[in-house]
Amino acid sequence: MLTFFTDPHEDELLYGAIARYHYYIGNIDYKDTLRELFGKDSVIPSLYLPCNLEHLAKQLGKKYTLDYLIKNHTLFPFYAPFLPQERKNTLINTMKYEDGQGIYTRLGMIAGSICKKEGIYYCPLCSKKEIKEYGEAYIHRIHQFQGVFVCPMHEAKLKKYKIDKTRASRVAFIRLDEKLLELDTESNERKAIDKELVKIAQAARYLLDNDLSAFDKEIVAKKYRELLYEKGFLSVNKTIQQKKLYDAFVWFYGKQLLKNLESDIDKDDEYNWLKVISRNSKRTVHPIRHILFINFLTEDIKYFFKPKIDFYFPFRQGSWPCLNPVAEHYKKDIIKNIKITSDYKTRLPVGTFSCVCGFVYSRKGPDQFKEDRYRIGRIKAFGHVWENKLKAYLKEEKYGLRELARLMKCDPKTIKKFDEKLGLNYFQGSKTIVKEVMDNENQGRQIDIQAYKDKIINTIREQPSLSRTQIRKLCQKEYSYLYCHEKEWLFLNLPENMDKQEIDCKSDQRVAWDIRDTEIVEGIKEAYKKLLESEKSVRITKSSIGKVLGILPTLENYLDKLPQTKEFLYSILESVTDFQIRRSKRIIDEKIAKGEPIRLWEIQRLAGIRTKAFNKIKDSLEVYINRGG
Ligand SMILES: [Zn+2]
Ligand SMILES: [Zn+2]
Repeated sequence: MLTFFTDPHEDELLYGAIARYHYYIGNIDYKDTLRELFGKDSVIPSLYLPCNLEHLAKQLGKKYTLDYLIKNHTLFPFYAPFLPQERKNTLINTMKYEDGQGIYTRLGMIAGSICKKEGIYYCPLCSKKEIKEYGEAYIHRIHQFQGVFVCPMHEAKLKKYKIDKTRASRVAFIRLDEKLLELDTESNERKAIDKELVKIAQAARYLLDNDLSAFDKEIVAKKYRELLYEKGFLSVNKTIQQKKLYDAFVWFYGKQLLKNLESDIDKDDEYNWLKVISRNSKRTVHPIRHILFINFLTEDIKYFFKPKIDFYFPFRQGSWPCLNPVAEHYKKDIIKNIKITSDYKTRLPVGTFSCVCGFVYSRKGPDQFKEDRYRIGRIKAFGHVWENKLKAYLKEEKYGLRELARLMKCDPKTIKKFDEKLGLNYFQGSKTIVKEVMDNENQGRQIDIQAYKDKIINTIREQPSLSRTQIRKLCQKEYSYLYCHEKEWLFLNLPENMDKQEIDCKSDQRVAWDIRDTEIVEGIKEAYKKLLESEKSVRITKSSIGKVLGILPTLENYLDKLPQTKEFLYSILESVTDFQIRRSKRIIDEKIAKGEPIRLWEIQRLAGIRTKAFNKIKDSLEVYINRGG
């Protein structure tokens, strides 16, 4: 394992990092460097697609995986999305485990090799920045692309590195030596740069920066066909209108630019590259031409590759928000269940999202924007949480249809539907009422509101135990009408909002408490007597009484349900002073009974009362003594 390696910079060609290693380690013979890194000196380091990477990765101590090196530091991602899957795999394996002879043949690029770059290119502005930041400039992948003539970041024209011929041999490692770089750019030169070239460079950059491993030649071809269809380049019988396509394409770029990119098209050639690329023939087309074609078909290359999600994950992966507006977890990503079907007409994917709260919604995909995940196409089920909430609101009997629809975030029709479905039938009368009102009005008659009110009042008087729901059922017409027109009056006159069962239960409980009350009072009276008579004086408190009877929790918590108990208890409870007086009086009584002299200081001592407290009760005790007990 190597103890030192020049870690590749962002977007640096692996070749560049090796060249820097060679320089910094101080090897004179490049073969030493090859042996150190690749285990043998017969390896020819390829600029774009280096091979034998497995050995190198081992030497680097598993700091980098093979796939990481290939993805981030070679030109592989530039070709990969446009290759058949099989060839992609072969290429990867060649880079990992083989010497790399004939690698370009495997790429299938020989025939289509265009814009071949001799030498190494750099952006003066990138280099300037790197020298400042890292003390050295390095070789970027993006600047080596065939067909990329400008830096996508700086929109500056790339320069060819002037190799010091005297020191270069066939396999000498070339690094960017500051002394040989031309770092000046003329601003008028930058202005003259063709915008299309910048766009091409940016598209190339996109290929490097994004994980497009899901793409291959087949998928790309399918996408081309979709776009050709959308753009109107397919005839009725689904064949490509090549003449129309050619005209539009050439008009889009202009012949000169195509020529500069060595991509001009011979209209009469049955195998011109535009025909080849649009027909998905077996031939491989150079990535730069794919970029030209993609930029022609879409506004931006990212819109071409973004629908990758369409094919595989039209609603992205992970979890999705519950959109039940009355659930506590509204808009929280708690849904794990998604079912994807396709729309029978459009064939677009339809996602159905089911939450544990019973709420189920669906929408047509694919999701295009972030906000799409909060879009409901259709509510398929409201679920128990939603229904219970509605039930609770309905039972409160204070919301109108529209209010409820607003609270439950649905339309009034849905409220009515569930009102009936849940068996509450709260809104079911209103239809007849409206009809009746209209009939009456049509016939010039007025609704007799007073009569309606009387009906309600009489019903309540006759059966005072009726609940609101029962009254509503008995006086459906009157109730609904008054609910709409005289809500305030109605609620003022209706009984407390309890249903019958609740009342029954309450009244049963009431009876039980009454019996309890009487029993407890009797118990307390006896306990009280015993406490007063007990040898040791005990202060009469809720606690002492409760403890004697074993009902302390009842006295502490339910005294309000026991009116007699409460009244009697409060009449006998003693304050500390009351108790001191009673204790003292008891001692006085005993002394009188025994005919002993009564001295206040003695009483105080026997009763165990502090002077300060005793002074407060002294007067009343004197009165007691003088009265003779
Ligand atoms: Zn640059
Ligand atoms: Zn939910």
